[in-house]
Amino acid sequence: MEKPSHILRENVPLAPLTTMGLGGPARYLAECTSLDEMRTCLTWAAAEGLSVQVLGGGSNVLFADAGYSGVVLKVGLSGVVFNGETVEVAAGEDWDGFVQCCVERGLAGVECLSGIPGSVGATPIQNVGAYGQEVKDTIVEVRALDRQTLEEIAFAPAECGFAYRQSRFKGADRDRFIVTSVTYRLDVSGQPQIRYPELRRHVDDECPTLAAVRDAVLGLRRGKSMVIDPQDPNSRSVGSFFLNPVIDEEAFAALKDRYPNVPSFPDSAGVKVPAAWLVEQAGFHKGLQRGGAGISERHALALVNRGGTTREVLALAGEIRDAVEQTFGIRLEREPVLVEGHY
Ligand SMILES: Cc1cc2nc3c(=O)[nH]c(=O)nc-3n(C[C@H](O)[C@H](O)[C@H](O)COP(=O)(O)OP(=O)(O)OC[C@H]3O[C@@H](n4cnc5c(N)ncnc54)[C@H](O)[C@@H]3O)c2cc1C
Repeated sequence: MEKPSHILRENVPLAPLTTMGLGGPARYLAECTSLDEMRTCLTWAAAEGLSVQVLGGGSNVLFADAGYSGVVLKVGLSGVVFNGETVEVAAGEDWDGFVQCCVERGLAGVECLSGIPGSVGATPIQNVGAYGQEVKDTIVEVRALDRQTLEEIAFAPAECGFAYRQSRFKGADRDRFIVTSVTYRLDVSGQPQIRYPELRRHVDDECPTLAAVRDAVLGLRRGKSMVIDPQDPNSRSVGSFFLNPVIDEEAFAALKDRYPNVPSFPDSAGVKVPAAWLVEQAGFHKGLQRGGAGISERHALALVNRGGTTREVLALAGEIRDAVEQTFGIRLEREPVLVEGHY
């Protein structure tokens, strides 16, 4: 098969394609703006024996310093189709641009997810969530290309395996599907639902508009450097580096005996403990620096690139993980996807 030169570039630096700004070059980068281009790219890569890594907005991914020896397939599908209360959005659309559009049209259901970087197609991957909302609450269909058969398949929400920052696309079926579009069902009444106490405190009105909720969320997020801002060095991150661990009632009771002030949230699988609290109690404070890696000055869970390398960030993450485990007996799980170099 002939090399599809019209979609491929060679030896492309990956760091500028990520919010962390880390990672070496991709041997090939394929920017695919149609399903046909994706199929061509996958077929050619298979024939060449090259691995393929899917990339959206690069806000939840860490590439190795050596780079990637296969093909990085950047999803560039575009298009948004509103149809009453449902809207089908192509995977390559910018997530926050879509949220803004919903707010402007008076459609409720995603306003608390304002300011989250990345693409629409990545939102089902880890069931993106913030301030009491998760995309699983509004998703009615996920369409995806099966990388083996090259067929496009439609998944109902019950088939997606959604859980806290998890889905089948990140779990059992990791790297099997490329999400091509997501359909959301929104609330045409335009009534925002505020479930999160911190957000409630920041919204003045008893019955706020969607725009007021969006502004409050963006304000809260900016205060924590959780909105990408090229002027803000604390936002050179992947957001939260660790998931909030969920432990069983017995383990939580033992933890509470030792640390009566431990914060917690109820969870269907047990008790959720804020990872940021564990990290700080284990001795890692905001603003800490280790070489070219550090912890954000504004959020203990955000590891930031301070001119360093992926290796340095992973070393700091490992140090934090070990200290939390030694102190509390709880092993933190990494949230971003680590893409090994294959070199
Ligand atoms: C400052 C900051 C704040 C953040 N805050 C939040 C938050 O509040 N809540 C939250 O949940 N997350 C948050 N995140 C994490 C991140 O923004 C989300 O996970 C986002 O959905 C990632 O989108 P992306 O397009 O950048 O994905 P990428 O980083 O490009 O990819 C992440 C993973 O998804 C896969 N992927 C991407 N697109 C597709 C596709 N179309 N089909 C199949 N696989 C795909 C990639 O292969 C990779 O494994 C934050 C990140 C940053 C930098």
